[in-house]
Amino acid sequence: MKFDYLIVGAGFAGSVLAERLARGSGKKVLLVDRRSHIGGNAYDHYDDAGILVHKYGPHIFHTNSREVFEYLSNFTRWRQYEHRVRASVDGQLVPIPINLDTINQLYGLKLTSMEVEKFFESVAEPREHVRTSEDVVVGRVGRELYEKFFRGYTRKQWGLDPSQLDAMVTARVPVRTNRDDRYFGDTYQAMPLRGYTRLFENMLDHDNVKILLNTDYREILDVIPHDKMIYTGPVDEFFDYRYGKLPYRSLKFEFETVNEARVQPVAVVNYPNEHLYTRVTEFKHLTGQEHPKSSLVYEYPLSEGDPYYPVPRPENNELYKKYQALAEERSDVLFVGRLATYKYYNMDQVVAQALSVYARIVGQKRAEATRAQAVPAPRPVLASPASKRRRAAVTVSLTETAVALKGA
Ligand SMILES: Cc1cc2nc3c(=O)[nH]c(=O)nc-3n(C[C@H](O)[C@H](O)[C@H](O)COP(=O)(O)OP(=O)(O)OC[C@H]3O[C@@H](n4cnc5c(N)ncnc54)[C@H](O)[C@@H]3O)c2cc1C
Repeated sequence: MKFDYLIVGAGFAGSVLAERLARGSGKKVLLVDRRSHIGGNAYDHYDDAGILVHKYGPHIFHTNSREVFEYLSNFTRWRQYEHRVRASVDGQLVPIPINLDTINQLYGLKLTSMEVEKFFESVAEPREHVRTSEDVVVGRVGRELYEKFFRGYTRKQWGLDPSQLDAMVTARVPVRTNRDDRYFGDTYQAMPLRGYTRLFENMLDHDNVKILLNTDYREILDVIPHDKMIYTGPVDEFFDYRYGKLPYRSLKFEFETVNEARVQPVAVVNYPNEHLYTRVTEFKHLTGQEHPKSSLVYEYPLSEGDPYYPVPRPENNELYKKYQALAEERSDVLFVGRLATYKYYNMDQVVAQALSVYARIVGQKRAEATRAQAVPAPRPVLASPASKRRRAAVTVSLTETAVALKGA
């Protein structure tokens, strides 16, 4: 069997491209992932207690792009969900991003919106040149709030002081003078009704898409014929770390199930100043699942491990540019997604990036390319047990093929 495309990585980047190339253009695609599952970092599954959890930390979907939202709606129904976070500060759980209630609760005040704006102005220490994350926050809310909410969290998260980090890391953290305690302000905020993995299963449920799991692409590169390649793994690894490793921050996830239906008032509680973990997520808030028990995950930042967050420092960007130049020389490979472009992207941004790449491949406008259905999916799109069985069979037979080829 010859494939038109070998796609490395079954996260959002690889899966969107597999779906579009198969359904939009009738191409034959082999999607390979070295993990044992599809979905990349957005993968979710039911734990031993039967609670839906996110294996790689909480993933909350939010976007301002109607196009991205409508595209993903082909593969899932949605559960309305607006994300809320509390920070544990001075023995209280207060809203973060900082808003009117945060200040009133923290200092026992009864300020109005106008008064709190004046309060921020009175404590802010504006900087002439805003270069670092510290400059951003101290310039907006002053040193005390910076110390209470940002400094410790950033040091844990990045292993660096905010004064050593690009301004962009905290630039997108809003400070509000009203009582809005939503974490995101996007137009579309929702969670896939039956989880991300189900969304991916529906997206990839197409006869032209074959999936090969537990396989590094290098194991099959020379034995499975294909015309072109799309790579969504780490760009430095692709080039055998020729210029050295691109620095990433990693995480250890510790899961816990408790015999209580609810533990936290909101999905996520941040711990800027206590504990080694940065935050604790209680999944049922995100998924809306009803269950007598509850599962939580504790996140411990690490300097080594799976690559999660590119470390935003100028020297790392310089190093990435060298890899980018190598990538641009490879006209036979397209580099897409957060690892291949060394950028922290939210899921919607990766979907948008993949849709743009597809539009370029087919030479159409993105909106047009996103809607194209050269090879329509059997309706209804939501996967049936029969189609799941068919897909499982495909995965197994290809895995066996690869094993046989590897052994040969
Ligand atoms: C802790 C955490 C929380 C996040 N929370 C959110 C959130 O709340 N909202 C949001 O919008 N975004 C969130 N994100 C970002 C989100 O995870 C990414 O935007 C998204 O996963 C990127 O998709 P991708 O396809 O580019 O990469 P990935 O999902 O990482 O997929 C890449 C895949 O490539 C595979 N691969 C790599 N190398 C090889 C190889 N050699 N051979 C075979 N396979 C290979 C990997 O196994 C992986 O499955 C979060 C990220 C992290 C780390």
